[in-house]
Parts: sequence; structure tokens; C-alpha cells
Amino acid sequence: MSTYVERDVACPHCGKSSRRNVAESLNLGRSPHLAEPIIDGSFQTFRCESCNQQVVVDHPMMVIDFDRGWWIAHYPRAWEHSWESGERHSDATYQDTMVTYAPPIVAELREGLQRRVVYGLDALREKIVAWSAGLDDRWLELVKLEVWRAEPQLAFRPEARPRLFAAGDKTLDFWATTVEGTSKVLRVERVRYESTRDGADITRRAFVAALGEGTYVDLARIAFAGEDDSANVANP
Ligand SMILES: [Zn+2]
Repeated sequence: MSTYVERDVACPHCGKSSRRNVAESLNLGRSPHLAEPIIDGSFQTFRCESCNQQVVVDHPMMVIDFDRGWWIAHYPRAWEHSWESGERHSDATYQDTMVTYAPPIVAELREGLQRRVVYGLDALREKIVAWSAGLDDRWLELVKLEVWRAEPQLAFRPEARPRLFAAGDKTLDFWATTVEGTSKVLRVERVRYESTRDGADITRRAFVAALGEGTYVDLARIAFAGEDDSANVANP
């Protein structure tokens, strides 16, 4: 089942605190409609009653769908630089909730679960959209990197990583950031994904294998390794 807890949420614009119902876990198998606000970008978004600015509650939560085999640990985007401890924390959570303290029925449910760690609601949406469309997120990251690098008008920085937000039969749509700092839709033909995967050389296959070495499957795992980690204060 899905669980919520009441929390004081501070507005990042004016500091005004308000009491909010915040999700701690979402069970999309039982309640598929809970994915809709994540997809459309309205999830845990509200107007601050003091300054009227939009506030997005970016809070740790689990997103689980046993029917489709998804087990996703979502953490706030601000914690992403410490993804290695995020992976360890999510492994421990999985061990506790799905193995050690789990009822016997869970032993069947956890068969074949795909486990992931994501940071920020746009990264969570990307996984849900990709998996719903039958895409392997590791290959999707490689396609993203190649398309992104080939577009000189796009900013090439970790915080400007394109994020998939829609996947149709023929097209994949990413939100991307230009060098001027504006958002734009980066549209990629879906056939590009298939041809990249099917025609990959040994270097690309090694890159994809390295992306899949843990549960944090994101370009930042490899392409931006070596970032300054001294601000590592927000370990979950
Ligand atoms: Zn405010």
C-alpha cells in the first residue's frame, strides 16, 4: 500500500512553513493512477500561501510496482552527489523491507524486481516513462549521451542532463537545457534507440555494462565521475 506522513514543508522562496501530506511510499501496482501526477509534473506541487510561488516537495520515498517488477528508491535531487551512499541505503532498505522483515508472500513478489535509485522527480518520471515504454534505461542513457553531445546548442553539464518525459511508438522526448539556460524539447527517433543498442561496438557495450553495475543507472555514474564530493553532507 501507499503511505503518507504529515510534515512541515518550508517554502524554498520565502521560508514559510506549512503542514503537508508527504508520500513515503507509492504502490503503483495497486494504485496505477498515482503515477499520473509524476508523469505530468504536478506531483506534490503546491502554491505557497505566503508568497504564491510554486513549491515542489522533493522528499525520499519508495515507488513500487510488483505487477511490473519496479522497485525505485527516490531521493531528493540535492543528495545526488552522494549516490554511492544512496545505493547502500537503498540496498539496506530493500534488505529490511523485502527480505528480513517481509512476510513470506514477498519472497515471490521480489522475484525479478528491477531496482533503481533516482534523484529528483524528473529522474523518477524518466524511469517510469522508459520502463512503461519497454525501454532499457541503461541503453537509453547511452542514446541520451550521444544525442546530447551532438547538439552544440545544449548545455553539457551534469545538472543539465536531458530527461525523458514522453515515449511514443516512434519518438522519445527529453527535456533539455540550452547554453542560454532555457528549456527545450529534444526529440529523438525511437529507431535511434534500437539501432544504438543493436549495433553497439565493444566500447559502447562496456559503457552500458558499467552503467548497470549498481542501482543508480544514470550518466552521472560514469560521464561525470570525479566531481568534487566535499559537500557530502546530506547522506541519507
Ligand atoms: Zn513562499
